[in-house]
Amino acid sequence: MTVVGFVGLGNMGRPMARNLLTAGFELVVRDADPARAEEFGGNAEGFGACDVVVTMLPNDAIVRDALLGGGLAAELKPSAVVVDMSSSNPTATRALGAELSVALVDAPVSGGVPRAETASLSILVGSDDEDAVARALGVLEALGDRIFRVGPLGAGHALKALNNYLAAAAYAATAEALAIGQAYGLDPETLISVVNTSTGRSFSTEHVYAEHVVPGRYATGFMASLLAKDVAIAADIARSAGIDAPALELFNARWAEAIASLPPGADHSEAHKPWYVREAVG
Ligand code: NAD
Repeated sequence: MTVVGFVGLGNMGRPMARNLLTAGFELVVRDADPARAEEFGGNAEGFGACDVVVTMLPNDAIVRDALLGGGLAAELKPSAVVVDMSSSNPTATRALGAELSVALVDAPVSGGVPRAETASLSILVGSDDEDAVARALGVLEALGDRIFRVGPLGAGHALKALNNYLAAAAYAATAEALAIGQAYGLDPETLISVVNTSTGRSFSTEHVYAEHVVPGRYATGFMASLLAKDVAIAADIARSAGIDAPALELFNARWAEAIASLPPGADHSEAHKPWYVREAVG
């Protein structure tokens, strides 16, 4: 039986770890919050027995700390594969890969909490080691139904950051359109409904605005700080590659501004509030 270690049991990690149990994997879990590990029986020891270790953590610095700082990597057997499914910076991922004595695969996901729950995530796999990908494949197949082999180590993380840049840009542009529309006397619900049958529609208008912003739910399960991190990673990649990306720089500044004003843990659908609600009220 494949033994899987799972580190990071938050909004995404919790349902993903549940799906691994359902698929019949033996699970060893760890989270900075012991109550989250407790839900899985609190089996935080025994990483030495793991064939695959999945990290689903807020960012690459925390992934690095959990593996190297916390001593977890030193416990692993030589044939173990670490799969970082977090949205990390690809430069940090390549550096981590060079330091670990076991194989590292990056496999960030798209689909959010709803698709984490139904094991139907899109998974973007980057690796320099085909054999390691093969050893991790059964685990990935229990978590997602679209697995894309996108390039060398770090390529999954790069693609993920670029995808989320596009999502963050669509969200911010929609916030602008909404604020302008309201100034023109347009009802937000009408505006979003019309856009959703028209060419301006996006995942953001169809789901984030229609299901969360307009009805005031603000509960996508994806924090603003995490999306701002993804845009910052995309900007970092652009700068490192010497690509002129002025729109990306603007959206990066806009998201940094949002998280500086929102309370920690705020949902990303709330970003329009610091941009516009205060002005509208004042
Ligand atoms: P989260 O904050 O809900 O969960 C992170 C978990 O990691 C928490 O349980 C926290 O206690 C734990 N943790 C933090 N530091 C730790 C440490 N040093 N050791 C062990 N555990 C630690 O975040 P999330 O929404 O589950 O996102 C996780 C990753 O997935 C992020 O990189 C995010 O960008 C990415 N992601 C999130 C979504 C989403 O919709 N939420 C979608 C796709 C990708």
